[in-house]
Amino acid sequence: MLPFRLVYHEGYDLNLGQHVFPARKYRLIRERLLADGIAAESDFAAPDPASDEDLLLVHEDGWVRRLKTGTLSFHDIQKLEIPYSRQMVQAFRLAAGGTILACHLALRDGLGFNIGGGFHHAFPAHGEGFCAINDMAVAIRRLEREGLIERAMVVDCDVHQGNGTAAIFDGDRKVFTLSIHQFNNYPADKPPSDIDIHLPDMTGDEEYIEQLRAHYAPAIERFQPNLLVYVAGADPYYQDQLGGLALSLAGLRERDRLVIDTALRQCVPVAVTLAGGHAFDEQDTVTIHLNTIKAARESMEMARRAGA
Ligand SMILES: [Zn+2]
Repeated sequence: MLPFRLVYHEGYDLNLGQHVFPARKYRLIRERLLADGIAAESDFAAPDPASDEDLLLVHEDGWVRRLKTGTLSFHDIQKLEIPYSRQMVQAFRLAAGGTILACHLALRDGLGFNIGGGFHHAFPAHGEGFCAINDMAVAIRRLEREGLIERAMVVDCDVHQGNGTAAIFDGDRKVFTLSIHQFNNYPADKPPSDIDIHLPDMTGDEEYIEQLRAHYAPAIERFQPNLLVYVAGADPYYQDQLGGLALSLAGLRERDRLVIDTALRQCVPVAVTLAGGHAFDEQDTVTIHLNTIKAARESMEMARRAGA
């Protein structure tokens, strides 16, 4: 049994068929967790889909309406880069509901893990790059509205810059955004995060960890958030189809430990979301996400021992 809950819904599958975004990875992760004995059925919690009211905390009315009614324009679809279906919209609503639940669980248990979400390219009035609803932003706004948090921090380790998240929280002094990514990659236009770590092509484990530690550790200490949302993209992996960094499986796991340990040591609850991952071998993507769950377990056990 895990020391935290895994948030999952079978409706997370975006139903895209043969698309570079492997939306069936969510189901594969759950199957591997159960098959390898890492998790039991009782470790899982199912989210409710985010309501219109939740979405409207971040997204503009016109975008929410077009998603609901299936009236996206050709241009909308082109930017989104995935085909429209009702299932697709429901999957994004569930992912946002999942990140809300993971944040609530983080405040209760110290850590909450959404086996989904991380759709950081979604802006208030449009979606892009396979992201229609910015689940991290919706969850943070919802918890703020409930009076549960004052300050939140987003640490985005996907290989692509978190442009939607950066734009949403631009000028918001209560939400600190950090993105570490390959500079020479999508998105071409990178709205500034509070900290952007622009990495050159083919950056490897050592340099990546060093850069992340140097910027992240002092930032979290200074900002003292009530909640950390970790965007644990699997695509800085050297075998990723859409990435140009060169992290190994071990390097990615070290990254996970660094992000989660640093927060838990300062008693900052952590909510994890998955974001991208498009390895040539789909099983590698599943392994990387599974390793994040294992790293979270190790960090939680260490924090509990330290606190005992
Ligand atoms: Zn990505």
